Amino acid sequence: MQLTDKVAVITGAASGIGKDIAKVFLDAGAKVAIADLNLDAANATAHEFDPSGARAMGVAMDVTHEDQVDAGIEAVAARLGGIDVLVSNAGIQIVAPVDQFKFDDWKKLLAIHLDGAFLTTRAALKHMYAQGRGGSVIYMGSVHSKEASKLKAPYVTAKHGLIGLAKVVAKEGAEHGVRANVICPGFVRTPLVEKQIPEQAKELGISEDEVIKNVMLKETVDGEFTTVDDVAQTALFLAAFPTNALTGQSIVVSHGWFMQ
Ligand code: NAD
Repeated sequence: MQLTDKVAVITGAASGIGKDIAKVFLDAGAKVAIADLNLDAANATAHEFDPSGARAMGVAMDVTHEDQVDAGIEAVAARLGGIDVLVSNAGIQIVAPVDQFKFDDWKKLLAIHLDGAFLTTRAALKHMYAQGRGGSVIYMGSVHSKEASKLKAPYVTAKHGLIGLAKVVAKEGAEHGVRANVICPGFVRTPLVEKQIPEQAKELGISEDEVIKNVMLKETVDGEFTTVDDVAQTALFLAAFPTNALTGQSIVVSHGWFMQ
């Protein structure tokens, strides 16, 4: 699977899963924009992967801000030559039981995952449709796009919602050769998950080891974490797939935690 000279924008790519997708896409021949809230980290990642600055750029983008998203996507298209692939990946986690969930936390999480997916999609589609060379939109869902866990009400709600958005974009985008799909990873040991381990231990009244074994990896076939590279290789497959045969789908990459 190759992405020779395709332009990819990846949100939340200064860390974790998005960062590895940026590396894998660059290695497959793409030009990559690392869009993140944290501009210093985005620029550092771009420099780490492409010191020449010819094929990778950092871009400041809070995905919940309409103006920042529109301006960021425009800047990428102008500098790298259009937009062929969007990976809407930026995300956070906030855990608490539903009866105690703060409304501000609920709104913050939904805004990053759902407003962010919508705004980046709308901005990217304008370019994909106008260019007439097709495109691929990839949403970072989760096993929580299919399953629920305690303490994660807005996250599970948002991740289920992304599947609906992908299906609509798949239908509307088809005539332009634009595909839309969702990747649904199991637990991956990124900063987002490292932060949850002590938080869940506290909320559930169990040890951190028990959170890993009995909560996070309990339902997997082999007790293993999914890796950033497992997810990035799936993203490459979806980004490079050549036809509308593979659109409107959600692919679970979770060591069998969830089976379709
Ligand atoms: P991470 O915390 O390592 O990286 C998230 C990145 O998103 C950070 O660089 C952060 O600065 C950026 N970000 C946060 N809010 C932003 C905003 N408003 N605008 C732009 N950027 C913003 O997390 P990760 O584990 O790599 O998660 C990436 C995605 O993968 C998320 O959507 C997450 O829900 C999903 N996911 C993660 C796991 C896992 O186990 N780690 C499993 C399934 C799905």
